[in-house]
Amino acid sequence: MWETVIGLEIHVQLATNSKLFSSSPTNFGAEQNTQASVIDLAMPGVLPVLNRKAIDMAIMFGLSVDAKIADKSIFARKNYFYPDLPKGYQISQYEHPVVHDGKLSINVDGNEKIIGITRAHLEEDAGKSIHDLFDGKSAIDLNRAGTPLIEIVSEPDMRSSKEAVAYLKKIHSIVRCLGISDGNMEEGSFRCDANISIRKPGEEFGTRAEIKNINSFKFVESAINYEVERQQDILESGGIVEQETRLFDPKKNETRPMRSKEEANDYRYFPDPDLLPVSITEDEISVIKQYLPELPDVKRERFIKEYTLKNDDAEILSSSSELSDYFEQAAKTSTSEIQLLANFILSEVIGLCNKNNLDISQATVSPEDIAKLNNYIGDGKISMKQAKEVLSESWESSVSVDQIIKKNNIEQISNPDLLTNVVKKILEIHPKEVQDYKNGKEKLMSFFVGQIMKETHGKANPKIINQVLIKLLKGV
Ligand code: ADP
Ligand code: MG
Repeated sequence: MWETVIGLEIHVQLATNSKLFSSSPTNFGAEQNTQASVIDLAMPGVLPVLNRKAIDMAIMFGLSVDAKIADKSIFARKNYFYPDLPKGYQISQYEHPVVHDGKLSINVDGNEKIIGITRAHLEEDAGKSIHDLFDGKSAIDLNRAGTPLIEIVSEPDMRSSKEAVAYLKKIHSIVRCLGISDGNMEEGSFRCDANISIRKPGEEFGTRAEIKNINSFKFVESAINYEVERQQDILESGGIVEQETRLFDPKKNETRPMRSKEEANDYRYFPDPDLLPVSITEDEISVIKQYLPELPDVKRERFIKEYTLKNDDAEILSSSSELSDYFEQAAKTSTSEIQLLANFILSEVIGLCNKNNLDISQATVSPEDIAKLNNYIGDGKISMKQAKEVLSESWESSVSVDQIIKKNNIEQISNPDLLTNVVKKILEIHPKEVQDYKNGKEKLMSFFVGQIMKETHGKANPKIINQVLIKLLKGV
């Protein structure tokens, strides 16, 4: 049996207005090379000026994962040559990152586990090479050059692709909740390198492969699963795993070699002489602490206590501020059990969002209307089936729930006296079935229910029908 060992390095683009060391804007999708200043282009004689906002954001992150914040942090040059890196070095941090020694708890299949966070340092992003642009030629877009990133490095504490995805999702929800990143994975604001090795339990760590730049939760899972099998095949046939950097190809669902892994000393790190060491005071940290929002884990606990939600539901509802706000807004006017409201949101509303590829913040039915629908189900005014129909009509037309109910004359008949008349009528015209039922053919219950539904055009409350039927058939 092999044991998988995984450590993740996550790159998070910070949502600052300007770059880490220049005043160029950081908007995504601008025309090529319109957001690169002389500093980002590395013209001779220019000097970087630190965007202090990025330090604040790194501190916010550090406080959210119980980490230590350095009182003195240093920027270093990481030297390498690449066409999208005009300076010939990247300004990063090496020996004194802003954040170190943090931890985060994850939950996989009901098991709680702590993942260590080695460090989180600030660095600037590189530009982008655009390949096969024309005549097979490549071009460089430097808009992204100098955009602030935090790189969050975990300990090699994860033991399965599921744990890695849970950890990645947790970090994603934290940075989004803090508002320090938009977390947009398709645009590359949140991407990760997965370091993977395997070993026999109890033995030393094996040689790792590093899969670069994965930008979806699903790809992380597939890349790790592929890599684990590849390494197992190598070791079981007597080979050795090379330490190398690999790329994941989502189309082929496999990883392939990119380059052999460089060592830290290949980068000739040294403190950047153009930038002073950054001092961070206790006062500064305590001000930032004061303004931290409620974090997903704390919110989850509150949801469980305040609304008596199931843990798994509370976990999902607290994972994004947009979703938790939507839920809490609906809960305000809910008169039914909140767990039922949560179920309705998680299955129906999220279902519609997924189907239409929308975020919850783009939902076309308001939380107040969702609460109403759920209240009506609880009061027996409409059935679950009717509620779903009203929801889908309201979603498409943006007409309010009440107007649709009125317009379509939707109501559920829950009055036992009214239903007793209908049930009596149905039993009268089916004497044979009634006799068969009394002789033990209990399956006929659903036949009667079906007939009554037909008679009432689906408006009868199934719970009340059952009660009335049992009363009339068995005389109880
Ligand atoms: P580098 O910066 O060269 O990529 P680090 O030593 O900083 O290397 O480690 C980077 C990541 O690799 C960390 O997340 C760490 O947990 C992980 N890692 C280190 N050794 C292993 C290993 N044997 N198997 C899996 N992951 C590992
Ligand atoms: Mg690395």
